[in-house]
Amino acid sequence: MKIKLLLIVLFVGLQFSNAQQRTCGMEAHMEEVMANPIQKAQYLERQAKFQIEYQKILDEQANPNRVASPQVTMKIPVAVHFPEVPNTSSETLKNCLRNLAQSQINVINADYNAVNSDISNWSTVSFFYPGVNLGNLDVQFEIATQNHPAGTGLSNGTVAVTFGTDFLNGADSDFTWSGYMNFVVRDEGNQILGYSPLAGTPAAGQTVVMNTFCFGSVGNGCSGYFPSAPFNLGRTVTHELGHFFNLNHTFKSANPNSTNCGGADSDGIADTPKQAASTYGCATPGSISACTFPEKVLSMNYMDYSDDACMYMFTVGQKNVMQAYLNTIANQFNQNVLANDDLIKNNFSISPNPNKGTFELQLIDNVTNYSIQIFDTSGRVVFENEYIQNTSLSQTITLEAASSGIYFVSIKSKDAIITKKIIVE
Ligand SMILES: [Zn+2]
Repeated sequence: MKIKLLLIVLFVGLQFSNAQQRTCGMEAHMEEVMANPIQKAQYLERQAKFQIEYQKILDEQANPNRVASPQVTMKIPVAVHFPEVPNTSSETLKNCLRNLAQSQINVINADYNAVNSDISNWSTVSFFYPGVNLGNLDVQFEIATQNHPAGTGLSNGTVAVTFGTDFLNGADSDFTWSGYMNFVVRDEGNQILGYSPLAGTPAAGQTVVMNTFCFGSVGNGCSGYFPSAPFNLGRTVTHELGHFFNLNHTFKSANPNSTNCGGADSDGIADTPKQAASTYGCATPGSISACTFPEKVLSMNYMDYSDDACMYMFTVGQKNVMQAYLNTIANQFNQNVLANDDLIKNNFSISPNPNKGTFELQLIDNVTNYSIQIFDTSGRVVFENEYIQNTSLSQTITLEAASSGIYFVSIKSKDAIITKKIIVE
């Protein structure tokens, strides 16, 4: 009897300790993806596109005569989903969860723009890491408020936060929400804090999945959804979103089954020191040796496994990877779903929609130089054309041999990318 009790105590203790260490489900998720031939091919295609953009960025930075191109802050429309909260729940609970979602958006806006308050810690430890500089992605995340997907019951002006209606039955993609940066918050047990695809596809309605106890920031929280120490500062989303934007773990080995110093440079990024294993808890900066003497493990990096309070930075190398990947998926994000939409003036319309593969694209403003790209829900490009010194306000486009389904028409000018959904019947 005593032994049985001891075992129960040990078991409960073990479960408790699991939740105290960061564990991310990205690699397990990617094993599933890579075991599916279609998904694997799509993944490899995304990485090939990424490599082209990545090389462009590296070449530009290596050019001593370069004039930095003006950066337009990219706006990313967000939708947050609580599939396990019934839609019949009280408005009080729903409002609490909407506020929790906003608290999380505030964290990623700070972290991805390197304006988080604890980034000041870097100045006191950076001498351990010569050649490492802070990365700033220059993006703005906003919960969508306009033109919500049909059938979601959300009205214009309300935030895109759903309850019990989407991403049901453990789904990690939902076509209703293609074109958004999705976050799904649900019970994932004690083992993992969350997961994301590596190099996610907004057009496919893919999502970052978050456990219930590490979404949002401390001071917020609602029944069943309380940010809990040591993962109560919203950094799990910062970490998982890094995967969605194609960042690997800083401790990733070239051999997926081992984390040691033997493999090639783990994350493929030059300015993150190669490390033998993940860092848990709150390591003293500069206290752990990296694989190459005299480098130290960058334990405060968002892509390690430190506690929320002890991770606070991306590197420039990581920023370059995310920027390159974002360049390949930027036109997959819906831009007409955000409130302060200064892109509206460059808007366009499509008719007829639905159509049989031939339609007219009507520009509202006279934009002379632009390109049009049309892609399917897997992100595969089915039409691409550039229009230079073009004065016509309309273009007739025919998609040759397009099978029926949802497509995205994206128009890119020098100051905007706008994407609209069409249905080919
Ligand atoms: Zn991870």
